[in-house]
Amino acid sequence: MRRICVLNQKGGVGKTTTAVNLGAALARAGRRVVLVDLDPQGNLSTHLSVEVGSEEPSSYSVLIGEHTLDQAARSTAIRGLRVVPTGIDLSGAEMEMASFDEREFVMRRAVDRFESDSYAKVGAAPAEYVIFDCPPSLGLLSLNALVASREVFVALQTEFLALQGMTRLLEVVNLVKGELNPGLKVTGIVPCLYDNRLRLAREILGELRSYFPAQVFNRAIATTVKLAEAPSFGQSIFDYAPDSTGAQHYAELAEEVVAQERRPVQHGAEENLLV
Ligand code: ADP
Ligand code: MG
Repeated sequence: MRRICVLNQKGGVGKTTTAVNLGAALARAGRRVVLVDLDPQGNLSTHLSVEVGSEEPSSYSVLIGEHTLDQAARSTAIRGLRVVPTGIDLSGAEMEMASFDEREFVMRRAVDRFESDSYAKVGAAPAEYVIFDCPPSLGLLSLNALVASREVFVALQTEFLALQGMTRLLEVVNLVKGELNPGLKVTGIVPCLYDNRLRLAREILGELRSYFPAQVFNRAIATTVKLAEAPSFGQSIFDYAPDSTGAQHYAELAEEVVAQERRPVQHGAEENLLV
């Protein structure tokens, strides 16, 4: 089971759009995916038309130990895609968890249990991907996602200062790797909101590729009207506009993500990134 955290401490860079549409693309390709909404704003839940009342299982109730991840994972309109929505109380979770022992490990234990339970269940098909959509901050919620994950995908807007933001982000990933989760690796950088008509965007993408050749996906996700519209219709891009450029780009991204599984473990560039 791959455990991927979609991360960037900045908001508005395409994290949620990537989590939703990558998850949907993988599910359409026959994979079983669980998306976990860890942003108190609940954009991912809304994007997939999943609404929760305060008493219902959610990422919040998982974090405070009331429900298992399996109990909180809802089916969506897309076969193979389940969502653990944000409870309306998630914004309070960081404070509530402040007094917990090992508060950075709560989600990790929930996912470990989810994984072992699903293998133990007779006839059940275990999820192949658990993908966390993080809030735009590096607090306890993101930390829980980073500790529960094995991989980090950075969603990045190809704009001025993108590389500076990466440096800070990698420091945090390194810290988590060193202190809490030795196996953690940045295995993907997704260029989002990319406009190839802009010279600056092309230059930044080029720089990104030269710094992180093993991580930056070939497919940069273009800025498109359909991708901007889909969330307000509560649909992934594949349901909202299946023939659009955005749908094609996320389908290609998903192919690359699947192809990573056929690649031998990489040394060199990938290691350099994290020392
Ligand atoms: P984050 O989760 O990092 O805050 P979002 O995925 O919510 O970012 O994206 C921020 C805004 O940009 C949202 O309104 C979203 O619909 C829009 N958006 C994201 N990616 C694209 C894209 N490729 N083309 C057009 N709009 C996009
Ligand atoms: Mg978001």
